Amino acid sequence: MLEASFFIVPSMQPLILGIHHITAISGDPQQNVNFYAGILGLRLVKKTINFDAPDVYHFYFGDALGRPGTVFTTFPFVGAMRGRKGVGELTYTAFSVGIESLEYWESRLKRFGIPVSDRLTRFGHSLIRFEDQDGMGIELIANGEDDREGWTYGAIPIEHSIKGFFGATLALRSKELTERLLLESMNYRLHGQEGNRFRYGLDGKPGEWVDILVDPNGQRGVQSAGTVHHLAFRTATTDTQLEMQQCLIKQGYGVTEVRDRNYFMSIYFREPGGVLFEIATDVPGFAIDEDEAQLGEALKLPDWVEGKRKQIEAALKPVTFTPENYV
Ligand code: ZN
Repeated sequence: MLEASFFIVPSMQPLILGIHHITAISGDPQQNVNFYAGILGLRLVKKTINFDAPDVYHFYFGDALGRPGTVFTTFPFVGAMRGRKGVGELTYTAFSVGIESLEYWESRLKRFGIPVSDRLTRFGHSLIRFEDQDGMGIELIANGEDDREGWTYGAIPIEHSIKGFFGATLALRSKELTERLLLESMNYRLHGQEGNRFRYGLDGKPGEWVDILVDPNGQRGVQSAGTVHHLAFRTATTDTQLEMQQCLIKQGYGVTEVRDRNYFMSIYFREPGGVLFEIATDVPGFAIDEDEAQLGEALKLPDWVEGKRKQIEAALKPVTFTPENYV
């Protein structure tokens, strides 16, 4: 039998285009929606289930359409134990905001009772740091390099709304093998170093940065509520995804088969530092089963479990969202 790779003609386009989405494990689903849609003002673009565990929601929060590079997704487990940020994990998800927006966010977060760090500076950008109700590490990085338009439900002025990801921090014992993966197989380049933080980028735009924070003696993370499950990178199409899959297999990575996630196709592998990486296609996107105007309103199920909708709905705790409560 011919191998699938026999048919893959290498493309000239870059296989990796930046961050696609970041998926976290969370606790209570209602609190999760309250935080990401309510307080942070991200659009809940899809309410579905974890395709690998249909009794758990899968929420997607992003910009107006949930474009790749804006989508923070969660698996909220009712009563989940809290995990611990640590080595071998993506410890901080950084969102991008306007250069003048930190004061607005400091005041908004405090108003909702969220403790916020003092301002920090990193590679010339000001940022603030805080956690969601489960202890998830979040940063807002002010910059003037992001021309993406954020989403607003109305309360947050559009000029202050979150524009999408800025980047992500991986805490690792050492950087060498992960760096080699980023540089040799994923189009990334080393952008700079500040102390034990190494920054990697593609074209230098928000939405693509990956920082490795080297912490040789740090405590290992414990994956549960409040920690990130995986980091997904963008690839344009299923063709570039298959090319990437072959490239990773050649490097000796244990890569999964292509999985249909309805809104994109996915492959997964674990990078050498312990973080689960995914490569997800930019297509087809979240408007495939809902009108753009109604994104996130109904519980959407993939066709193959639609027949079990009654049982699935009965097992899920209902969630509501009233944007007017978050002005
Ligand atoms: Zn994913």
